[in-house]
Amino acid sequence: MESNVRVRFAPSPTGPLHIGGVRTALYNYLFAKKHNGTFILRIEDTDQSRYVANAENYITDALEWCNIPFDEGPGKNEKFGPYRQSERKNTYKEYAAILIKTGWAYYAFDTSEQLDTHRKGHEAEGKTFIYNWHNREKGRLINSLVLTNEEVQNRINAGDNYVIRFKTPQDEILRMQDEIRGKITIDTNTLDDKILFKGDGMPTYHLANIVDDHLMEISHVIRGEEWLPSMPLHVLLYRAFGWSAPKFAHLPLILKPVGKGKLSKRDGDKLGFPVFPLEYKNDASGDVSRGYKEDGYFADGFINMLAFLGWNPGTEQEIFSLQELIKDFDLSRVSKSGAKFNPDKASWFNQQYMQTKDNTELTDLYIPILKEKGVSRDQEYVLKVVSSIKERAVFVNDFWELSSFFFEAPIEFDVKASKKNWKEGTSELMTAVALFISNIEDFTSENTEKEIKEWITNKEIGFGKVMQPLRLSLVGKLAGPHLFDIIAMIGKQETVKRIENAINKL
Ligand code: GLU
Repeated sequence: MESNVRVRFAPSPTGPLHIGGVRTALYNYLFAKKHNGTFILRIEDTDQSRYVANAENYITDALEWCNIPFDEGPGKNEKFGPYRQSERKNTYKEYAAILIKTGWAYYAFDTSEQLDTHRKGHEAEGKTFIYNWHNREKGRLINSLVLTNEEVQNRINAGDNYVIRFKTPQDEILRMQDEIRGKITIDTNTLDDKILFKGDGMPTYHLANIVDDHLMEISHVIRGEEWLPSMPLHVLLYRAFGWSAPKFAHLPLILKPVGKGKLSKRDGDKLGFPVFPLEYKNDASGDVSRGYKEDGYFADGFINMLAFLGWNPGTEQEIFSLQELIKDFDLSRVSKSGAKFNPDKASWFNQQYMQTKDNTELTDLYIPILKEKGVSRDQEYVLKVVSSIKERAVFVNDFWELSSFFFEAPIEFDVKASKKNWKEGTSELMTAVALFISNIEDFTSENTEKEIKEWITNKEIGFGKVMQPLRLSLVGKLAGPHLFDIIAMIGKQETVKRIENAINKL
């Protein structure tokens, strides 16, 4: 079914995508899919000074990992392409010229030194310099509102530096509507005449963004709260061009786990969690930043966690598949206030997703880790290990810590536990246990449990006296799954060997 909903994720490739950016992409994706619409990726790379070469690939790789593919974008269904703004330069120039012609914009020739002088002059008087209605036609600023056409042409022909500024309408209370924040009003006299186009032939973000949203037939602009201050200019630009504006929705900020303000990479470094979806290597500095993927998070759990940073379904349900998110997502349930990031909750989601994962899939993830440890066991054995430990695992990376004893004998023994449980007489008792075990025929978990327990009962010794040293011998500490499952898994010979080893060492 065709739908009129067309939304875009429009990142600037200035570095790795922060999880806030991923959440913006996700909400756009969910909104598009819910309405059978189109999700577009547009690369806003007009600011050459901030351009980072590997950032665009990072963005597309991140969307791919998150499983939120775009329908149109660079190299894909380029119906309204190109989708990289640097490849659309000529278009913006034409539209800037239209605004000049209709009187909605003007040339300004003020040099940065001159503007600096104005700024400093204002500061000295305790005021802020704003380039707008109150000074743009007073003659102190040099622009096409005060110069004659001829003077303007001469300056341009002579190669003078210029910018094109928007002529913000004066004395108007602008009424706007945000899908999340409701009615917003602003006095246009407080706005400055933003630069739309620069002498170097490049548009600024504002012009390029509006022109492209119009040409790409964007129906809803869903983006971060940091763009809210730009909304009046954008609404006015649509009016200037005579275009109808898309609907706007400004998403709440993602906040630091502790303290105030926006979540930053520093918070992640300090508290030990990633703020980027994928690991990122800064080619210039050589710095490597952690990523959720490399830290062992499942993409679907990560997306579920992100969806809840600013949205909730209004019910108790927290675990949502992507399909369920698409079904239930609604801009009306996105909150206005910032969403505090909680790294523990991120782990919690991963643990929940771990339980829903297929054991075969987890086994495939564990085998390469085992290989690195120099362990090679058949798939069937690893699968059994995985099914016995996954309940306690948060990450696949935890598997080794939780299961190394299934593959190799403990190298050391927990000191405190040994002191408490390996007492005088324990070695003799364990020698007898080893002998008894070596005579058990049916070495299943159920049967070894039955026989060993009977043996202990017959001997009239406390269970703990045997079970704790036995666990210590096999695992090295008082942890791990059901002891007889371990015994059955590692087998008779290995069990006896480990008991003897413990007797020698403890
Ligand atoms: N290029 C802007 C950014 O980096 C896009 C803002 C918008 O969506 O309008 O976030």
